[in-house]
This record gives sequence, C-alpha cells and structure tokens, in this order.
Amino acid sequence: MWHMGSPETVMEKLNTTPQGLAGKEAETRLTQMGENRFEEKQKKSVIGAFFKQMSDSMVLILLASALVSVAATIFSGEGDYLDAIIILAIVCFNAVMGVIQEFKAEHALEALKKLNSPTATVIRDGKEKVVDTIKIVPGDIILLGSGDFVPADARLIEAVRLTADESALTGETGEVKKKAETIADKNIPVAEAHNMVWAHTVVSGGRGKAVVVETGMNTQTGKVAGMIMSSQSPETPLQVRLKKTGKVLGLAAVTICGVIFFMGILRRQPPLEMFMTSVSLAVAAIPEGLPAIVTVMLAIGVQKMARKNAVIRKLPAVETLGSATVICTDKTGTLTRNEMTVTDTFGDRKRLFECVALCNDRKGATEKALYLAAEKEGFSVNRLNERYKRVDEIPFSSSRKLMTTVHKTEKGYLVISKGAPDVLVPLCSISDIKRGEILKKNREMASQGKRVIAAAYKEVGVLGSNYEENLIFAGLAAMSDPPRDGVDRAVLNCKSAGIKVVMITGDQKDTAVAIARETGICRGEAGVISGRELDGMTDENLEKEIDNYRVFYRVTPEHKMRIVRAFQRKGEVVAMTGDGVNDAPALKYADIGCAMGKSGTDVAKGAADMVLSDDNFTTITEAIKQGRGIYSNIRKAVRFLLSSNIGEIFTIFTAIFFGRESPLSAIQLLWMNLVTDSLPAVALGLQPHDRDIMHKKPINKNRSIFADGLGFKIFLEGIIIGIISTIAYIVGKNIFGSIELGKTMCFCTLSMSQLFHAFAVESEHSLFSKYVKTNKYMMFAFAVCMLMQISVIAFPVMRNIFKTCEMNKTHWMVVLILSSMPLVISEIEKLSVGVKKKVKERA
Ligand code: ADP
Ligand code: MG
Repeated sequence: MWHMGSPETVMEKLNTTPQGLAGKEAETRLTQMGENRFEEKQKKSVIGAFFKQMSDSMVLILLASALVSVAATIFSGEGDYLDAIIILAIVCFNAVMGVIQEFKAEHALEALKKLNSPTATVIRDGKEKVVDTIKIVPGDIILLGSGDFVPADARLIEAVRLTADESALTGETGEVKKKAETIADKNIPVAEAHNMVWAHTVVSGGRGKAVVVETGMNTQTGKVAGMIMSSQSPETPLQVRLKKTGKVLGLAAVTICGVIFFMGILRRQPPLEMFMTSVSLAVAAIPEGLPAIVTVMLAIGVQKMARKNAVIRKLPAVETLGSATVICTDKTGTLTRNEMTVTDTFGDRKRLFECVALCNDRKGATEKALYLAAEKEGFSVNRLNERYKRVDEIPFSSSRKLMTTVHKTEKGYLVISKGAPDVLVPLCSISDIKRGEILKKNREMASQGKRVIAAAYKEVGVLGSNYEENLIFAGLAAMSDPPRDGVDRAVLNCKSAGIKVVMITGDQKDTAVAIARETGICRGEAGVISGRELDGMTDENLEKEIDNYRVFYRVTPEHKMRIVRAFQRKGEVVAMTGDGVNDAPALKYADIGCAMGKSGTDVAKGAADMVLSDDNFTTITEAIKQGRGIYSNIRKAVRFLLSSNIGEIFTIFTAIFFGRESPLSAIQLLWMNLVTDSLPAVALGLQPHDRDIMHKKPINKNRSIFADGLGFKIFLEGIIIGIISTIAYIVGKNIFGSIELGKTMCFCTLSMSQLFHAFAVESEHSLFSKYVKTNKYMMFAFAVCMLMQISVIAFPVMRNIFKTCEMNKTHWMVVLILSSMPLVISEIEKLSVGVKKKVKERA
C-alpha cells in the first residue's frame, strides 16, 4: 500500500531522507534484505555433468563391450583384464575433459553476464552515484531518466513529465503518465498506481526521483511466477546447424562401423575383438565434441572482444558480425570524440551564456560544454539556478532537437529554449534580414564540422502552454568535436573488407558533411540526404536508392528503422548504433544492434546485441574482425576433426575389406580420439587470424559452413591420411616383415599425420606466407602430442598397454616421412594456387 502514503511518510517509514542512505547503512541493508535480483535456477553439479558425459550412448556401448570382455576373460580364462581397465580409464578421462570444457564454456558465459550487469543512479550520502542494480536496497533514493530501466519498485517523490512503459509487467502497451501525488484509494490495481514505478519497466520519457520500497523477489515483477528470466543462453545458429550436421555424421559413422563389424565377422575375425574395434571406431569417429568446442571458441572470442571494448550481449552476434556488410553509425561520440568545447559564438554573448547555463541538465557532452563555457565566461551556474528556480520544462529529445525550461523571476516567468538553429530560429520573431544573417553564420560554423546550438528566450506572466513561440533570439554557440583517432583508418579498412560505412546523425547538413569528409565516409556532397527527404520517399524508392547514400542528416531515431529495413531488403547484413530510447526498435531490428556503453540508455543496451563500452566506431570494426576470425577458426577445427576421423575410418575399413585384421586396437583408437585429435583442435580455435582477414569479402551468412569446397577438402584430406597410414602398415608388414611392426607403424603414422595436418589447416596461406601469424598453442599441442605418441612406443610399460612393438631409426624415418605428407601436399597446393593467382593478375 505504498501508494497511499505521502513521499515524506514513505521515506520516514523506510528510515531515509531525500539525501539518500548513508553508504554504510546501504551495505547493512544489503546483507539484511539480500541482493536486488531474482533467484536463479540451481547451477549444474559437477557429478551430474560427468554422468551426462558418461551416458552418451556410444560410451555406454563401449563400457558394455568392456564388460563383455571381462566376462569372456573370466569364463574362457584367456586374455587379461588390462583392456577393460584401460578402456574404462580412457572413457573416464574423456568424460572429465568433456566436463572441464562444458564448465569452461559456462564460466565464460557467466562472465559475459557480469559484463552486462545493469546499473542505476542513486543518491547516497547526499551525492549522485551509479551502482549495480543488484546493490539497490529499500530506502535508496533513485533518479530516473528517459530510457532507464526501473531498478526496483519505488514510490515517486518527484516527477517531471514522467512516463513509463509498463507492458513488461501489466501487458498493456502504451505510455503511462506518472505523478508524485498521493492516491487515497486502497484497492487500486498495479496498472493504476500512478505514483509508483515498478521494477523491470521502462521510463519512456521525462525524469523523476523516487524512493525504493521493495527489491528483488518482493517486487511486483518478482512475485509474478514464471517471469523469472531463464539464465540459459540460446544456442547460436551455427551451433544448431553443427549439432544437426554432427548427428548426421555420427549416424554415418555408426553405419560404417556396423558394416565394418559384419564384414570382419564374414572374414572370420575374432568377434569380440572386432566388436570392440568397431565400437571404439564409432566413439572416435562421432564428432561429439564439435558443439562443445564451438561453444568454447565463441566464449573465448567473446572474452577477447570484451577486452577490446566490445561487450557481446547475445552470443549469435559473434557469428553475424563476421558477415556484416553495412555499418550505420552515429556521428556524435561514435565517430567524434564527444569532447566538445565552445569555440565561437554569435549574437548577444551575455544573453546566450545566461540562457545555455539555465536551460541545461548537464547531461551529455553538448550540455557539459555549454555549462563549462558559461562558467568560463564568469557566470556562476549554481547561483543563477538558485536565483531563477526552474518551475517547468519540456525535455530534449532527438526527434524534437529542442528543449525548453521555465524559470521563476521577480516579475513573472522566464522561458528559455535551446536547440538546433534550423528548428529554433523559425520559432523566434525576427526580421527576414536578421534570420538570413543568423542562418548564414550557422552554415559557416557548421561547415567546419562544428555543432551549433541556438538559444532564445522570452518573458511570460503565467505558467503553461505555448512556450515555444515568439521567442527572442539570443545567439549561437559553436562547439568543435573532432573525429576520434583512427576512425579514418577504420573506415578505409571497412572499404577494403567490403563493408559500407553510413553516417546517421541528428545534426545539420554542413556539420555532418564536414565530419563525413574528414573521416572518409564520403567525398563530395553526393550521397547526402536529409530526414525530411526520406519522409518524402516511399519504401520502394528508398530501397532502390539507398546504395547511393552515405550520409543521413537531421534524421530522427524513427528514420533509423526505415534505413535498416531498406538495406536488409537489399540483402545486406546491417550493424546499427544507437543510444536513446527511440533507437531501441532499430537496434532490435538490425542484424547487429550496437548500443553505446557510456552515453547509451538502459533500453538501448537492452535491445542491443553488442555494447561498445568506449562508444567508439573503431570498436565495431575490431569486433567484425574478431567475428570473422572466430568463424574461420571454427571452420578450421571442424575441418581438422572431420578429416582426421575420416582417415581413421578409411584405414580400418580398407584393412577389413581386404581380409586383414584391424591394424588398430580399440585402445589405440580411443587414445587418438583423446590426444592427437583434441589438443590440436583446441589450438586451432586459438589460432591468431590471418593478417589479411580484413581484405576479404564478408562471409555470406546463408551459406553452409562447408561452403567453398570445404566439404570436399575434408573428404580428400581424410582419404590421404588413410592412404598413408595404410602404406605404413604395408611397409611394416611386407618390407620389414612383421605384422606387429606394421600395426605399430600404422598407429604412429595415423596419429602423427594428424598432427602435421593441423599445420596445414592453420591458414589458407602457406606457413611461410607473410599473412600467417605463428600459433604458440599449436606448437605446444604438437610437441606434447608428439612426445606422448613417442612414449607409447619407447617405454616397455606403454608398449605392453598399447600392444605396440619397438621401432628402430629406419622405422621412425619412414613413419615421419609418411606423416608429414599431408602438410607437404598442402604446401604444394597452396604454392600452386598462389602462382596461378599471380599469373592471373599479370594477365
Ligand atoms: P547526433 O546524431 O549528433 O547525436 P542528436 O540527436 O544528439 O544528434 O542531436 C540533434 C540536434 O539536436 C543537434 O544537432 C543539436 O542541434 C540539438 N541538440 C543536441 N543536444 C541538445 C541539447 N541538450 N539541448 C538542445 N539541443 C540539443
Ligand atoms: Mg545523439
């Protein structure tokens, strides 16, 4: 019943004042009442995750066959338990690795959520402070502005043209007007308690001050069952597709293994051994690790991006980034530094500064610059504000490009408006000559890339209505706001990467064009269009013409939506920046909505896929680069894993087909799956991207991951690995004259050729190309896997376990030469492609 008390009684009840809680008191309350958030689902347990890994159906079959082997040993008295024990150990180890990977992925996603934790503005110890929303306690005084999420249920103390969008709570769309007045009615529904604001709703306009009454699960939203947001992040399109592909490939692997099993039986191979081999082959060949590896790669990429100021809010954005073809960017603060300083003025200087000092919320770079300039001019802004108390206002909005405040004077009221010159000057009563003079001066200032603000005033006798007409012109203030360092280079990079850069600004033409030229977005005045001209165009026309435009000036946030849509209908993948409440629809609609971290509202951030924590344009291009790199690394890992598996299948299939026993035992197969398959795959995920990654066309988002001949390559490379392993077997058996040696050499060749193959997959350029950066993880993976493989042959204990035999120098030489074949072949192929390209370029 908080709405029934006056603000004072509510504050008294909660033991707080308009000065807010003391910091200490807030901490005490936080420990008493708990954090301001909803209870989340139970976390997954380690044991549970382990058994989930173990319950994978192929693993179960493997375990069952191990049991059968134990049983056979018991009843027949032959053989030993070693096989079963080793299989059990490997399977457990495999599961542990799987669990580690899963938790790593989860941990990264958790960290991602923390990066995105929302904040709110409170008054504590009499000072304004920005705190994490979860730290808010009952009794806190909160400040609300247009575009804020309401952090908790609160009773309004002050409300200036405050409106809220409460559809998240009540389901009713539209704006609700908010007032601080007390409501006497006891039984009014939530939707009608106009002096309250509710957690998780949105301030759509105006501003207010309120005292928090309930937090966390006690809020109205918290009480509504089922509203608890799920903590699970959805899978990305690529993950979904890979999961499907993995299933198909898995099924194929199982089928082939079945064929191999029956073929082996027909060829009179011992059934139990044959069974174990086929099942192990299936376990090794099913790419069950693929989705997990992709998740880890995405998660690692996300962390990397966060370090470069691009905070990903939705995982699929990482993939979409790589295929971005258009960036629509704001001007102020994104392309420019947002460090404004007033450089020149025009008109009545004293009046002008008085106006911009009073009609000022000190919000944003523009207002701060005006405030500082007024102080520098000798005005005490605080004293002015005390003398002329603000009694009414019409807030600034990007659509109006104008704001007005009304102040009490001795005689009556002083109305002050400030805003874009072309909006404000028509509201002033002045002669045409004077108007022409002002607008000429405005153009002069703007064409230097400066932002120009006009101010005007008038005195009235009564409050209310018609403030913004018949004003007296005070003057113009021009502010310089130079482009950020590196933006011109980033724009250039985008061009060579096949990405268009488009500026969308609320500022006027001359300012926009000047900045667009300085940053290289456009050259002349061609390709420049205003919001008003956009209004005169049909959607069809806009779609046809949109490619010709690079600068959109004097647009409102509502235009952004049309621009995004027009580009998208042309098949473009659009990244769009935004900061205000009204930008939210366009941010949502864009393929990659980028909200500003510093100047952005909660609503914009909530709607965005990515938050730029430094508001910087170059961060977008950096993120696109990372996105491309991640996608290409995922392709590499997929290529490596699948071709390795095909190599294994091919080797065993060939042997059985020609009536030989399998050259590889169950344990050997599992070993490869665990060591030589997985470590290089992880290293590939950490591969630094090629230096020329931003010289390529964007990735076509509709094409399969196997596009551009990747599927064929995988198949071919698998066959090559299979053939050389078979050759190793034949050489060992027929030339060196021992089946045991043949099997051992086959095992080593298969395992090591995969390691060499990993280097071939690293880049599409030759390893010696200037575009390739060395991957130290790959070096490490290679060294470790090599040593492990050698130890399997070198030590008698290991030989006993893996059923291998000793090899001398000659044998090793043969194995090494054969194993390096995939890399040698790939280098030759890359060389020939390079030569062909050069020949083509010359022709
Ligand atoms: P941008 O795309 O440059 O961010 P904005 O929507 O912020 O454009 O501003 C549009 C225009 O509104 C500016 O060119 C300026 O003339 C005017 N303007 C910006 N901020 C204020 C303000 N605080 N008060 C009055 N007018 C403003
Ligand atoms: Mg803006």
